[in-house]
Amino acid sequence: MKKSLKERLAILSDAAKYDASCASSGTVRRSSAGSGGLGSTEGSGICHAYAPDGRCISLLKILMTNFCIYDCAYCINRSSSNVERARFSVEEVIWLTLEFYRRNYIEGLFLSSGIIRSSDHTMEEMVRIARELRTTHNFRGYIHLKSIPEASPHLIEEAGLYADRLSLNIELPTDAGIARYAPEKQPAGIRRSMGALRLKIEEMGDKTLQTKRTRRFAPAGQSTQMIVGADGANDATILGTSARLYGSYGLKRVYYSAFSPIPDSSKNLPLIKPPLMREHRLYQADWLYRFYGFNVGEITSTRADGMLDLDLDPKLAWALGHREQFPVDVNKAEREMLLRVPGLGTKTVKSILSSRRFTRLRLEDLKRLGVSLKKVQPFITVDGWTPHRLVDRPDLRAMFQPKPEQLSLL
Ligand code: SF4
Repeated sequence: MKKSLKERLAILSDAAKYDASCASSGTVRRSSAGSGGLGSTEGSGICHAYAPDGRCISLLKILMTNFCIYDCAYCINRSSSNVERARFSVEEVIWLTLEFYRRNYIEGLFLSSGIIRSSDHTMEEMVRIARELRTTHNFRGYIHLKSIPEASPHLIEEAGLYADRLSLNIELPTDAGIARYAPEKQPAGIRRSMGALRLKIEEMGDKTLQTKRTRRFAPAGQSTQMIVGADGANDATILGTSARLYGSYGLKRVYYSAFSPIPDSSKNLPLIKPPLMREHRLYQADWLYRFYGFNVGEITSTRADGMLDLDLDPKLAWALGHREQFPVDVNKAEREMLLRVPGLGTKTVKSILSSRRFTRLRLEDLKRLGVSLKKVQPFITVDGWTPHRLVDRPDLRAMFQPKPEQLSLL
């Protein structure tokens, strides 16, 4: 018996939650009591993401289908998996998007898909959804399309005319990992598609001679996702791959998705789920690389195994491993060094630099700027405060480490 739309929405929004490429959080429940109809889906498929202007927006996050002809070992939807399958038609995705949008549940659509029949066939259907939403229904909401990397370039290009953001998943940090766990995928082809997308985004971003305007093409740029923990790559390798992707393809974002093992001895996969904390630390390290002037080697220099410290945020871990660089004089230090002080973010550093033009700063001023004094004090000097030998204390790390939790016996 064919599943109802509501049943398929539950399956295909649940399947989409493994994709981190749009989410700042997982699926949220949203009460729609009293609205009736599709509103009683308990918020299936609604996630939050950040729009290019920084606003947090709600998106309908679904797969077009979780059927797939590929057999990527790390994926719950792979052809050999026995998950419940479902599929939406093009018209159903359009209808759902418009209905959710009209009812104010969402501000946009995040659409991904397993591969049905062929990469081009799947991509054609996804492009048709985006095209009809924009042209037939004049849909103005946000659209993020997860491109099928093996699809023909003209289809990926057409997708950019209608989508705000396109993403092409690099999947795993190394080509060897992809060859082992997703042998049907071609990492060189994925990178080629990313390169072509970058050129197109840049080309369309130039003002034309006639109209002196830029043309609309994936205005929110491109992003990618890497599965973390499915192969043996350490954090240094993962962050090194991200750095190359940012540099070579102008990506707006690399998303890290902690691998959820699928028990299957035939695939010879590790069965220990890495903590989500690893994913969180990678995002923090990625942030340091992009906005704080750290290079990947520095961020991962504190441990011999190339892994990030799970107990401490990467900037604090770096500072504790490089104590000779502290304390930093907040009233004199360059921006680059202020950014390396644990507890000082980019906005705070900006405020410090502008305040310094008029006054000399004291601890009270930092407190007024929202700085955690406990975190920052061992690493700075300001008027009226010097940490003396606090930064050299052997137990400094222990002062920042999370307290061990009492395990319940019940
Ligand atoms: S192609 Fe995508 S959906 Fe299909 S098995 Fe691989 S990762 Fe999963």
